[in-house]
Amino acid sequence: MKSTKINIAIDGYSSCGKSTLAKEIAKQLDYVFIDTGAMYRAVTLFALENKLINGVLNEIELISRLPQIEITFEFNKERGTSDVLLNGKNVETEIRQMKVSEKVSLVAAVKEVRKKLVELQQKMGNKKGVVMDGRDIGTVVFPFAELKIFMTANKDVRANRRFEELQLKSEKTTLELVKANLEQRDYIDTNRKEDPLRQAEDAKVLDNSELSREEQIVIAMSWVEAAKSNLA
Ligand code: C5P
Repeated sequence: MKSTKINIAIDGYSSCGKSTLAKEIAKQLDYVFIDTGAMYRAVTLFALENKLINGVLNEIELISRLPQIEITFEFNKERGTSDVLLNGKNVETEIRQMKVSEKVSLVAAVKEVRKKLVELQQKMGNKKGVVMDGRDIGTVVFPFAELKIFMTANKDVRANRRFEELQLKSEKTTLELVKANLEQRDYIDTNRKEDPLRQAEDAKVLDNSELSREEQIVIAMSWVEAAKSNLA
């Protein structure tokens, strides 16, 4: 029987709730959720741990050490989703810290880093049944994804959400710092030369500034059903 599994690409600005929505869709469909931001964050953690970022990023050294970086995922039963591993070590908690958020967009702008991670992501999706969130999924990783969603939300709403998340994790920061970090990442992600963040022409736009989680999932699942019925 022909497989009716599809790939779902979710892109958008920082802290729009992409991962939250992606996880929920994956759960409902029994698909695999892949957080590509976690992969760029893990490479950034490697660069920080190996002192490749001292104010500026030592791009040449990072590129030469890319073969030493192995990124994998491991299912976490408690969370019901996957944790990211950097060279076999679970770094899921560390990669969410502000020290990583502050540098990740610099690392993600490096062409060779993107090439390595995009290849990995494409392999993960080659059997379909994947919900992947990031910045270039619908434009570069899966340009033929059966469903593409582009998420957006008001900046203050996004900053508040991320700040609350960090507070729950007892990270010491301020709302102003979180907002500044979001703005800086959005700027770099949108203006970089390699695979910048942009809306795919055929993406469905979801502005969730005023939508509850439940409302978002209802909208997204109606798009999923439509995409699946297009296959039949
Ligand atoms: O999704 P998250 O906010 O964790 O992503 C962290 C950073 O990783 C983004 O700000 C962006 O610089 C980079 N990224 C990317 N391409 C992706 C996913 C994330 O450039 N597909």
